[in-house]
Amino acid sequence: CGVFGYIGKDNAVTTVVQGLKHLEYRGYDSWGLAIPIKNNVEVYKTLDPLHTADTVPIDFKSTIALGHTRWATHGAVNMTNCHPHVSTSKQFALVHNGIVENFQMLKTQLKSLNINLISDTDTEVIVRLIEIELNKIKSVDNFCEKSPITADDYQEALSRVFKMLKGRNTLVLICAGLNLLFGIRNGSPLIAGIISDHAHNQDSYSELFIASDYYSFAKYTNTCLLLDDWQLIRCEQKNVRVIDLKTNEIIPSNWQV
Ligand code: GLU
Repeated sequence: CGVFGYIGKDNAVTTVVQGLKHLEYRGYDSWGLAIPIKNNVEVYKTLDPLHTADTVPIDFKSTIALGHTRWATHGAVNMTNCHPHVSTSKQFALVHNGIVENFQMLKTQLKSLNINLISDTDTEVIVRLIEIELNKIKSVDNFCEKSPITADDYQEALSRVFKMLKGRNTLVLICAGLNLLFGIRNGSPLIAGIISDHAHNQDSYSELFIASDYYSFAKYTNTCLLLDDWQLIRCEQKNVRVIDLKTNEIIPSNWQV
């Protein structure tokens, strides 16, 4: 499948749809996108072919969005299995490229916690596991009152869950409220591109793209960063950093033209 994320200007939905059209060769079973509206993630999904999507399907302006075009590996081609997959609280959504090879084992573990899946995808397992880790993180650092989930909390939960997955996988996650995108990869491809604010500081940007291939955003920028396996990219409005998942350290991002 193809994944595409964008942070930048008001037309995030248009940019994501355009990007997905270039990724249609990676999967054309269904497609979808997600944007944050206040503290919730809103999702649009369809089984219609991408190349017929002339108009922007969501009537909202957003500076941040992610999208997916699916090649089904787990579960039939239907609206429930279509990505993005959204958390129960609607605070985050994710798209996935790959196969979670230990899906059955993780699904059984979730079942033993009385968590039943709505879809037949391996992707939904990832969403449920992130919810569990976020709950653990929040219950440790706050006894009395639930504090809002921070970007660091998401990073920690996502990193923990990603390490549980077997197989070749790429994820892109969007978090409402914080206007935050994460990308993470092992095996499946992930590449970032930026339009930079300052020539000397490329970790500061005005527009950022994150996708399964370079051609999907090539018309906007040629400043790119190929993510390596076991790297996480954390994209906040205007600011981006890359983290090594093994050491949890920020690594210098080597943007290339
Ligand atoms: N395994 C996931 C699914 O079946 C993602 C497949 C893909 O890479 O498109 O939905």
